Amino acid sequence: MTRTVEHFINGKRVAGTGGRTANITDPSRGEIVATVALASADETRAAIAAAEAAFPAWAATPASKRVQVMFAFREALIKNLDELAELLSQEHGKTIPDAKGEIARGIEVVEFACGIPTQLKGEYSEAVAVGVDTYSIRQPLGVVAGITPFNFPAMVPLWMYPVSLACGNTFILKPSEKDPSVTVRIAELLTEAGLPDGVFNIVQGDKEAVDVLLTDPRIEAISFVGSTQIGHYIYTKGCENGKRVQALCGAKNHLVVMPDADMDQVVDALIGSAYGSAGERCMAISVAVPVGEDTADELVKRLAPRIRQLKVAPYTDPDSDMGPVITKESLDRINKFIDEGLEQGANLVVDGRDLKLQGYEDGFFLGGCLFDNVTKDMSIYKQEIFGPVLSVLRAKSHEEAVQLINDHEYGNGTAIFTRDGDAARDFASRVKIGMVGINVPIPVPVAYHSFGGWKRSLFGDHHIHGAEGVRFNTRLKTMTTRWPSGIRSGAEFNFQRSSDV
Ligand code: NAD
Repeated sequence: MTRTVEHFINGKRVAGTGGRTANITDPSRGEIVATVALASADETRAAIAAAEAAFPAWAATPASKRVQVMFAFREALIKNLDELAELLSQEHGKTIPDAKGEIARGIEVVEFACGIPTQLKGEYSEAVAVGVDTYSIRQPLGVVAGITPFNFPAMVPLWMYPVSLACGNTFILKPSEKDPSVTVRIAELLTEAGLPDGVFNIVQGDKEAVDVLLTDPRIEAISFVGSTQIGHYIYTKGCENGKRVQALCGAKNHLVVMPDADMDQVVDALIGSAYGSAGERCMAISVAVPVGEDTADELVKRLAPRIRQLKVAPYTDPDSDMGPVITKESLDRINKFIDEGLEQGANLVVDGRDLKLQGYEDGFFLGGCLFDNVTKDMSIYKQEIFGPVLSVLRAKSHEEAVQLINDHEYGNGTAIFTRDGDAARDFASRVKIGMVGINVPIPVPVAYHSFGGWKRSLFGDHHIHGAEGVRFNTRLKTMTTRWPSGIRSGAEFNFQRSSDV
């Protein structure tokens, strides 16, 4: 009998009662390895009730005590890293070093959360008027929900809940139904680390559960990470229902290669950032923009053999550079983009479609693909492919490259490779993108900075984790105080002010 991934409510695994399930497939073999319960509206409401009940005591727990749980949680994640990476890779398909890397980035957010008391420090102004003082504090919101994608099943949830919990909120996570097992194991570690029951809960599910989270008045805020189409829905519906929403969405990340760039460094950077994790990263580089024909010719000449040498293999092969994509639908979608690229006149320099792995014929593998002579009007340029496909779009000048990026609907990440400080500075200043790398291909901010894109890559006002994460997860309250010994001025009919004008 296949295993069923359960919910995690009130500190323990809870079997689904709604009757609906989804299949979890091993992407390297194309075989169903487990099922996951899909929560009904009532089951989702029960999880919200648990989080609501746990909120007052958790919010009243001093921040310095709350973070003791985070310190122990960090130790537990490190101790169980091998097990967690294995669980993650089995369902996602990414290589073990890649899985460990994403958990490590998640641990960094836990480390940031360990220092939350410093972030929650308020502001105090003595004597804003005679005998009157003002202070501001940040308080937790209540029950916060997180809805997360398949591509980073450990790291993206960890972007959200360590900060939210350390701020004093209780939390409901709705992970991707494609690879949810690792989230439940991590929830157990969090409970073992001392988190009170009900403070962190997981509801497995799909649109039915999400729609309850979007509409139930007990949910105060929603962090979403996923595609732009769903993110826009989450943002508009969540806001309509009075919730604070941050929705981090899809991407099309350009890497500009200036003629003076170190070409060895560029080629290494593109191989890792375009094909790592089979291109299933929101910060993957999917467009290379060499400036000038000579730069472009040299780039394509050097890239092509490196792409052909990529070792595409299941995560169980320690030499694998990249694994399969997540599902058959995803593979079909990527193949359709490749067909469209060819129909629309792009030049497929490296075609990864013929790849067949012995013993894994039913797996969702695709070799690295490289398109040259891509133009702005092609669907492979306009849309997010989310697979191991890199497009080369040749630009005549630095100016044209900047314009191209600024005209694109997405604004998550970008990079420029150059030795010219002026070109890099101008690029960083004018480009309409949330995260910019200078000779760094995947400029993912560390945990104590904040992660987020611009344009249709993020709906809402707050980036995630770091100081922005603290602002998203708290509400500002400002007190103005006077004590009886302060100067009495009789009844006041005007606003208080500090000046005499
Ligand atoms: P997705 O949008 O399909 O799913 C994300 C979440 O939404 C999942 O939990 C899913 O169950 C839920 N969902 C799906 N359909 C829904 C519906 N109709 N109603 C309500 N909820 C629904 O995304 P995905 O395929 O899991 O992940 C890939 C996408 O995530 C890519 O577009 C990628 O760029 C994006 N992503 C963005 C970032 C970022 O930080 N900007 C990070 C990682 C991934």
